[in-house]
Amino acid sequence: MKVTEHIAQATKPFFSLEVLPPLKGESIDNLFKHIDPLMEFKPPFIDVTYHREEFVYKKRENGLLEKTSIRKRPGTVGICAAIKHRYDVDTVPHIICGGFTKEETENALIDLNFLGITNVLVLRGDPIKSEPCFVPEPNGHHYAVDLIKQVVNMNHGRYLASEQENVFPTDFCIGAAGYPEKHFEAPNKKADLRYLKQKIDSGANYIVTQMFFDNQKYFDFVETCRNEGINVPIIPGLKPIATKKQLNLIPHRFHVDLPEELILEVVKCKDNEQVKQLGIEWCIQQSKELQKAGIPVLHYYSMGKSDNIKAIASQVF
Ligand code: FAD
Repeated sequence: MKVTEHIAQATKPFFSLEVLPPLKGESIDNLFKHIDPLMEFKPPFIDVTYHREEFVYKKRENGLLEKTSIRKRPGTVGICAAIKHRYDVDTVPHIICGGFTKEETENALIDLNFLGITNVLVLRGDPIKSEPCFVPEPNGHHYAVDLIKQVVNMNHGRYLASEQENVFPTDFCIGAAGYPEKHFEAPNKKADLRYLKQKIDSGANYIVTQMFFDNQKYFDFVETCRNEGINVPIIPGLKPIATKKQLNLIPHRFHVDLPEELILEVVKCKDNEQVKQLGIEWCIQQSKELQKAGIPVLHYYSMGKSDNIKAIASQVF
């Protein structure tokens, strides 16, 4: 079933999960161990992130540095199929522009279609760590909107080899990312919203937000979106904070602010066990408030941890 159908047909609030593929060489059982305890809550769909290649530099015997490209977390498509098979839930692979030519994207979408996976979250991807800004592949996409258009074309039976006849149309439900606090590269919120509207007007069916720790940011974002004519479901993304280090890591990595009250409480914690408990409680409060406001689905960024998500879900669902 499509994400939008899950939302439209929900008879009670539910949550979806976002998981990461295991590190290269690790068993998929590690991922299953993480998902297993959460299945009692019956999340109707699970997102699997995509991780593009990174460059690493190895020192050669002659002292020169050798640049090699590695993908630390491959396997998104296979993992989606494995999760679907094991738990009988829908999966949402993230597909990104970065590192892909249009043809490689088309081939990945064909694989997904054959596997019966009918949802995709379409993203641009971040710049490679060693690059100051995002660089598309030659014959790749620059922005998520361009990739969305490619998926929509396939949904209309228009593949890249356009002279081909009798092509089978795909039927993907398309998600896009939204940023209540603005995407870090956008010149201002208005411009960011304009580009978000382009993604919806081009065929994205729903939005998942970047994490936020103050619900007012989400409520304001939804209101602005609605005023701009963005009427698709906007799924709030939530992440429970778990370590003191995240006070700096989260703003650095995800370009979001943490509320002063949360910071002061984290600082008071004696150890990360206390921080984790605080993160759970904060996320429960956020979840309950969103539910009270009538939001039918919450999206938890689980980051490979299930015990805190389980603690939250058991209080909220
Ligand atoms: P876009 O929508 O293309 O926007 C990128 C920037 O360009 C924005 O500043 C936007 O305002 C601007 N822009 C957009 N269109 C135009 C245009 N036509 N002209 C000029 N400017 C434009 N990353 C991964 O690598 N793997 C993942 O699995 C992953 N999952 C994610 C899941 C969620 C829910 C979210 C919120 C983010 C995720 N990301 C992931 C991170 C994401 O790839 C980055 O935030 C990336 O920098 C932007 O992606 P986007 O799809 O929002 O890009």
